[in-house]
Amino acid sequence: MRSLDKLRGKSKPEVEKIAPPDGDSLSESLVEAIDCHLGRRNSVELKRVDGFHPSYTNQCARYWVYLLRGVESKTDFAPQTYRIFDNGHAVHDRIYSYLSDMGILLKEEIPVENDDPPISGTADGVIEFYGEKLIELKSISDAGFAYRKTYNKPKDDHIRQAQIYMHCLNLNSGFVIYENKNNQEILPIYMERNDEYIDKLFKKYRKIYAAFLDERLPLRPYKSKESKQCLYCNARDFCWGDQDGGERI
Ligand code: SF4
Repeated sequence: MRSLDKLRGKSKPEVEKIAPPDGDSLSESLVEAIDCHLGRRNSVELKRVDGFHPSYTNQCARYWVYLLRGVESKTDFAPQTYRIFDNGHAVHDRIYSYLSDMGILLKEEIPVENDDPPISGTADGVIEFYGEKLIELKSISDAGFAYRKTYNKPKDDHIRQAQIYMHCLNLNSGFVIYENKNNQEILPIYMERNDEYIDKLFKKYRKIYAAFLDERLPLRPYKSKESKQCLYCNARDFCWGDQDGGERI
């Protein structure tokens, strides 16, 4: 039987049939979509601090002066790095919940301030365990965990953070608690407050802060833009493009 359209001399336009994407392409598209979403966190912005932040790993004097002045800083992390950071935050929440359920978590996310030298940060928490003790929570790779376990010593950056927090919160001891990212094994490393360490560190911070107040810029302590410390510095482009070579402080 002839269709009505044919009888009217019209024929239906052909609808192009697009094959639905297969499972593999759908999976790839989803990864791309998530990566793209996380990539939006990268930015170039003016970063300025009012004091030394214990959690910052870059201890270059020139970097601190730039931060105190305010500097254009570039955040350029891979999406997977953001997932690693977020996983670290989730580890914090889980360990807080254990300590809280045990009834020994006294405080969490404690603001920490100091006037001279100016310091501003957030300590992970304080627990009651044979007296009040600081806790700093860190998730770490399997290899890093094995190393910490062998030497029973926290990373230098974590020692600095914990010492500053213990000093500012007037605590005598604490734990850096590592959790292995691969198997959730935990390793609390006990630390006592070390006033000599703090004196030395604060002397260095006061010197850097005085340079900032006097509008003096410290020399670049590294030989090239490619040096390891500079590669991870988010003021790298600004610093190496700065005509001011700086001075010894
Ligand atoms: S780029 Fe290197 S020398 Fe410059 S502020 Fe950063 S770490 Fe210091």
